Amino acid sequence: PAARKYTGMVEDCCCDYETVDAINEEVLHPILQDLVKLPFFRYFKVKLWCDCPFWPDDGMCRLRDCSVCECPENEFPEQFKKPYNGLSPDSMICQEGKPQAAVDKTLDSRVFKGWVETDNPWTNDDETDNAEMTYVNLQLNPERYTGYTGDSARRIWDSIYKENCPKYPSEDMCREKKALYKLISGLHSSISVHIAYDYLLDESTNLWGQNLPLLYDRVLKYPERVQNLYFTYLFVLRAVTKATDYLEQAEYNTGNPEDDLKTQSLVKQLLYNPKLRTACPLPFDEAKLWQGENGPELKQEIQKQFRNISAIMDCVGCEKCRLWGKLQVLGLGTALKILFSVDGDSHLNQPLQLQRNEVIALFNLLNRLSESVKFVHEKGSSIEEVIKQQ
Ligand code: FAD
Repeated sequence: PAARKYTGMVEDCCCDYETVDAINEEVLHPILQDLVKLPFFRYFKVKLWCDCPFWPDDGMCRLRDCSVCECPENEFPEQFKKPYNGLSPDSMICQEGKPQAAVDKTLDSRVFKGWVETDNPWTNDDETDNAEMTYVNLQLNPERYTGYTGDSARRIWDSIYKENCPKYPSEDMCREKKALYKLISGLHSSISVHIAYDYLLDESTNLWGQNLPLLYDRVLKYPERVQNLYFTYLFVLRAVTKATDYLEQAEYNTGNPEDDLKTQSLVKQLLYNPKLRTACPLPFDEAKLWQGENGPELKQEIQKQFRNISAIMDCVGCEKCRLWGKLQVLGLGTALKILFSVDGDSHLNQPLQLQRNEVIALFNLLNRLSESVKFVHEKGSSIEEVIKQQ
């Protein structure tokens, strides 16, 4: 095999490249691939038709492949239609004020209290507002090449980078801003990798396949983009492992006991995998952030920037790109919420509460990043030879 191009620690993380590739390929990738196919994880609730708050919409898509097919009402699980799995939000909120609630908490802080509808402070959408939400079967709408390019796509990325997370010019940029930039850049790399992985090679014959020159030109040629992909992967993985207690207890209920048991078992296999726990016990160390004097203000500022990024997703002019853009930004927002919970205004550590849709976004994002890391690792060391020969 060709020599490894990336060695040593992933910048600003706590695991090295070799370990990340090993745990990804041996543990996470196979589990996640199975997990996202199960009913609980394949139906994502999303508001796809929002007005773009920034520019009049001009981003029309060239290919039919841009459009998303929604699920008919009878397709997605019955449980998803009921917002709270039988528990009213009031009953849960009220518990907080009652004396027995204190007992509950001290006896078993790990007990999962049912899915709630809470707003994510890192995103622009109001997640508690169900109006105009539709369910999309993600398995029928894979993230791949759509033909969405040109000024509209460029304007979105430019505005994300320029207005919200300018590339760190030098050492004087603080860790936190650098982390936000790297998260977005890593997500951007992952989107490009998926375009290269599943590309329309010949429109006349509808031939789809890998486009390795594109993978090279957009991602592999720039070591920083590869590094940021690994960074984002480890960041999201850390959020998942940090939420272990919550995710282990959660109800993966879709009305089909066989599927639901499988979901629960795969989630546990992932969270408690001995190889993951020993080889990379702390993928990212969030305790190092927000330590400076201006930590709280900085957190607010960065939260606002991330919310702006999430609002920009409504301006993505191709429906399928918008779907995956919104899902992955919600996934990142969920990771940010878990790691820097929960209230952006204070350092109060509220107990973690996640919405079902946040968990769906989080695992689907981790799966996408895991696919990208795998493809980059497989092609990374050999591709330069291939490109030179062409
Ligand atoms: P772009 O990818 O548009 O990049 C623009 C500029 O950003 C580059 O010139 C470079 O300066 C910088 N840049 C590129 N990558 C990075 C990085 N990793 N880190 C830092 N800076 C970088 N197209 C599809 O075919 N399928 C999709 O599913 C899809 N989803 C999308 C989702 C979103 C949210 C957005 C905004 C766009 C999506 N697109 C999708 C479009 C796609 O991302 C590209 O914009 C498009 O293919 C044109 O690519 P490009 O070569 O012009 O460079």
